[in-house]
Amino acid sequence: MNRRSVVNRFELAREELIQSLRAKGIRDENVLDAIAKVPRQMFVSPLFASRAYEDTALPIDCNQTISQPFTVAMMTQLLKVRKGDKVLEVGTGSGYQAALLATMGARVFTIERYPELMKKAEERFKKLGLKIATRVGDGSVGWSRFAPFDKIMVTAGAPEVPRSLMQQLKDGGIMVIPVGDRKVQTMFLVERRGKEFFTREVDGFRFVPLVGKEGWQD
Ligand code: SAM
Repeated sequence: MNRRSVVNRFELAREELIQSLRAKGIRDENVLDAIAKVPRQMFVSPLFASRAYEDTALPIDCNQTISQPFTVAMMTQLLKVRKGDKVLEVGTGSGYQAALLATMGARVFTIERYPELMKKAEERFKKLGLKIATRVGDGSVGWSRFAPFDKIMVTAGAPEVPRSLMQQLKDGGIMVIPVGDRKVQTMFLVERRGKEFFTREVDGFRFVPLVGKEGWQD
């Protein structure tokens, strides 16, 4: 198969994925536009490239996963991302979610505990010309140097909402974070109003664990 037909195959698969996300309730056109622009096949190993537009999580290095596109789209929609928003992502993984947020015009700060994953994610950001601030470390305690954030997205399952992340959320800010046991979590949408935090539960999802000081023990 020549390069042109491979590109067309990816474009077709991406368009089908977007239609299926619409059918599943993703309405935010900015989210769908970003999914249409960011080549997900670049964020998976070449072994899985042909499956990049299936609505499924796929394995990445270090025994981690790139999240299912529906989950990514739903979490991004819940965050109501606006151009210029300062967004903290905990759990860079492949870098796909961070790339979507940056494509939507957010100023993205992303943290990953595995240096190997971050190195690959940084290479992808560079190839795509995306300016994203990265850090290797424990994201369960946030990134106080750049706090407060308009939005915080945690892409690993936590035992509870880390206090540090709540403190690093701006007044009026929104955080999405899966909370539960190690296997099944509920998506929490946390909104900060002054000193008060309002939490709404969204749905059952499954994530790899958030491992860290304010997460699960390794
Ligand atoms: N957002 C990612 C993407 O677009 O590919 C998918 C994230 S994957 C489901 C969860 C990631 O969270 C893993 O890469 C894992 O290593 C990372 N992680 C878990 N605990 C962490 C912590 N305390 N700080 C930073 N990253 C963490």
